[in-house]
Amino acid sequence: MMCTPKRQTSKSRRGNRSGSLRAIALVIVLLVSGIIACKRPAVHSVGRPLIGTLVTLTVLAESHEKAIIASEAAFSEIARIEALMSPVIGGSDIARINKSASGASVIISPETFALISQSKEIWRETGGAFDITFASMSGLWNFSRVPFVPPGPALLNSMKHLVNMANVELDGKKKTVSLKKPGMKTGLGAIAKGYAIRRAMEVLRRYGIENAMVDAGGDLQVIGSKNGEVWMAGLIHPRTKRIIIGIKMRDGEAVATSGDYERYAMYRGVRYHHIIDPSTGEPARHFASVSVIGRDPVEADAFATAIFVMGMEKARELLARRSGLSAILIDADMKVWASRRLAEDLVVLGDVEITWF
Ligand code: AMP
Ligand code: MG
Repeated sequence: MMCTPKRQTSKSRRGNRSGSLRAIALVIVLLVSGIIACKRPAVHSVGRPLIGTLVTLTVLAESHEKAIIASEAAFSEIARIEALMSPVIGGSDIARINKSASGASVIISPETFALISQSKEIWRETGGAFDITFASMSGLWNFSRVPFVPPGPALLNSMKHLVNMANVELDGKKKTVSLKKPGMKTGLGAIAKGYAIRRAMEVLRRYGIENAMVDAGGDLQVIGSKNGEVWMAGLIHPRTKRIIIGIKMRDGEAVATSGDYERYAMYRGVRYHHIIDPSTGEPARHFASVSVIGRDPVEADAFATAIFVMGMEKARELLARRSGLSAILIDADMKVWASRRLAEDLVVLGDVEITWF
């Protein structure tokens, strides 16, 4: 892009000294603003399918090369995390844990260990709503099976006892995990995306990027701004799929959304989706969409899923305790609720009424 400050011409020359000083000052201002305009970094955006979704990196950089080198490094980091934590990649930490005999100790990477430990803390904090052993029952919920038929109560009841994080034993010194009951499985689907976003952003920063957005299928974190403009995230309506609210994202903020429209199947007019209430083994029914905004993408991701399961009352208690987290909740009747803390940051698009709490 060509960029040169324009030369100003004046119609009449003024002979006095203050006039020429003003003219010099004006030229300096124009030159400086011209230089700033020249240095305006370009916006580079590139997407790649990773961790089961489309990851899009939007990076502001002075050169295409710098943007590409930083983005490639961030993508490699996400691929590395996927190889550690995916349940379907053979040899990953999670695949090895899930294949192990009950009671056997499996040594895993310190990173996966830290995320499982954090998952256990969140399990405690959310009264069991967030539970990575939901995966023990995930085989019952195959939404891509045609025709989809939900599991019956007898099958659900026979497996429910396997969902309980209390039966995941962790040894912090040895970095081992052991599952206490035969048939138990774990899955980091509700938290690993947030971790991947956090790590990808750290890589971008390490490569000297100061303004960027890391977006993994709608869960995202931003740093800096988009050439001085605030980054915006869009919240979609769970049924129409139209963007109904814009969220102004400040430097370092992250947002994660858990929705009943992301992975689901219909059976006899009822929607069955992928967020499982550990107490029933069935899809949680309180909300259609939960978005959590905070400074840590890992917490945003995990608490969005947890709140989805917890329901309104417990969610509000949790949000009152955790002042660093805000939320936008869309309940089963499509009524929109939002933390009062977000009042300045939401841009309502179209016919939406927000009830603040
Ligand atoms: P998210 O889109 O972040 O809400 O994550 C949804 C994914 O989390 C699901 O596809 C499951 O892999 C996993 N999951 C479902 N229910 C739970 C739960 N109660 N606790 C933890 N993870 C869950
Ligand atoms: Mg989540």
